[in-house]
Amino acid sequence: MMAKTNMWKISLAGLLVLSTVLVLAQVPQGTGNLLVLQGATLIDGTGRPILRDSVILIEGDRIREIARRLGSVPKTVPIIDLKGKWIIPGLIDAHVHFDQSGGLYTRPDIIDLQKWRPYEQELQWIRNRLPFTLERYLASGITGVVDAGGPMWNFTTRDLAARTKNAPRVAVAGPLISTYDPMVPDTPDPAVIKANSPEHARDLVQAQLIRKPDLVKIWFIRRAQDDFVAQTAIIKAAIEESHKGGVRVAAHATELETAKAAVAAGADILVHSVTDRLVDNEFLNMLRTRDVLYMTTFAVVDNYREVFSRQVNLTDVEKQFGDPEVIASWSDLDKIPADEIPTGIPRVPPPPSRRVEYENLMLLESAGVRIVGATDAGNIGTLHGPALHREFELMAEAGIRPADIIVSATKNAAAVMGRDKDIGTIEKGKFADLVILNADPHADIRNARKIYKVMKAGQFYEPSAPR
Ligand SMILES: [Zn+2]
Repeated sequence: MMAKTNMWKISLAGLLVLSTVLVLAQVPQGTGNLLVLQGATLIDGTGRPILRDSVILIEGDRIREIARRLGSVPKTVPIIDLKGKWIIPGLIDAHVHFDQSGGLYTRPDIIDLQKWRPYEQELQWIRNRLPFTLERYLASGITGVVDAGGPMWNFTTRDLAARTKNAPRVAVAGPLISTYDPMVPDTPDPAVIKANSPEHARDLVQAQLIRKPDLVKIWFIRRAQDDFVAQTAIIKAAIEESHKGGVRVAAHATELETAKAAVAAGADILVHSVTDRLVDNEFLNMLRTRDVLYMTTFAVVDNYREVFSRQVNLTDVEKQFGDPEVIASWSDLDKIPADEIPTGIPRVPPPPSRRVEYENLMLLESAGVRIVGATDAGNIGTLHGPALHREFELMAEAGIRPADIIVSATKNAAAVMGRDKDIGTIEKGKFADLVILNADPHADIRNARKIYKVMKAGQFYEPSAPR
C-alpha cells in the first residue's frame, strides 16, 4: 500500500465511515504523540447512537480517527485497553462565577456578613485560591467552563486557566450590564454595573470589547416600580453594541415577559430557566426560530436553601472534589447570631411538588430548543467543580433522558462557549477532551460521576497534591 510517511490510513469497509478498521499504514516518524483508546463504549456527545468496543486514535491534542475495530498498529503506539468503560466528551459547565467562592461570605448583597469577614478579604481569598478552584473542575470531569459575568479581572482568570495545566478551558464575560443596582459593597472593579441609559449601556459594552469577551452578559431584572419600556431600550442597545463587536449576548431574564423581551432584542443565550409561569407557544417559537440556547440552573436555589436552613446534604462527588474551606464556611451560620446580621438570614421557600421550570424544560426540549445544563457555581452552596453532577440529577428528575443531559453539557454547552467547532463532541479533528467512566451514564446519569480518567487536549489529568 502506498502511503506517505507521517500519514496513516483508514480502510473503509462498506459505505459507513465508522465501519472502519483502524490501520496505521506505515509507521509515522515519531509516533510518540499517538495514542489509541480501545474497547470502551463511546457516547460521542452528538446524540447519535453509542459505539460499542470503540477505537479512538489521538494524535497530540486532537482526535485523529474513530473506528470500530483495531487493525494493525505499530508496537510503538500505546494502546490503552478500556473494555468495560464508557467514554463521554469532556463536560462543560456553561454558567459559573469565578469571583464567587460558593462560601457563606461571597454574596454580601444576599446575606451581609461583612462584620465577620470583610468582602475584600473574601475576594483576596478567592483570587489566591483560583489555581485549585480551576483544578476542581478537571477532577469533576469538566474540561470547559463559562464564567457568565464578573469583574474585569475575570479576563485574567481566563489567562490563568490558559497557562495552567490542571485547568479547564475557560470562556468569560465581563461585568454584568444590569437594569438594576444590587446593593454590593463598593469596589473599584464591580461584577455588576447598572446601565442608566441606552448610551451608557453601549459605553459599558465598549469597555469590555477591548478585552475580547467570549460573551457579554446582561442582567434583566424588572421590579414593580421599573419602567419596562426604558429597561428594554437599554437591553436592546447593549445587545446591538455587542453584536456590532461580534460578541454574543447571554441574558439573565427569568420571567416569561423579560425573557421574551431579551430574546426579541436579540439575546443569543438565556442563562436561567423561566420560573414565573409556563412558557407559551410564542416563546417556544421565538427560541426555536432564533436558535437561542436555553440554560437550566436548577440546583442553585436548592443549594441556597440547604445552606441557609442548615440542612446541607452533599453528594459523593461534592464531598470528594468540593473545596473543604468553602464547605466549612457554611457551618459558621451556627455561630453567628441571626439578629446581628443586617440582612437577616434569607428564607428560601421550599419548592412546589412539581416545579414550573421543570415543565418549561420539557416543553422547550420537545419543541427542539437547544438545552444547556449548567450550575451558577460560586453562588452560596453551589460548589465549583462537582456542582454540575447535582444539576444533572435534577434535569433527570424533570424528565430529560441521560443521553440528552450529556448533549446539553457537552455539544450544546460548547456552543455557549462559541467553541463548538473544536470541542463538545468526540469527533475526528476535535480536541481530545474526554471523560472515561466506570459505569454507563445512559443507564443512570449519576454514573457520570464514576470517573476513571479525565483527558484534556490529549493529556490525562494527573491530580496535584491535595489542598
Ligand atoms: Zn450567574
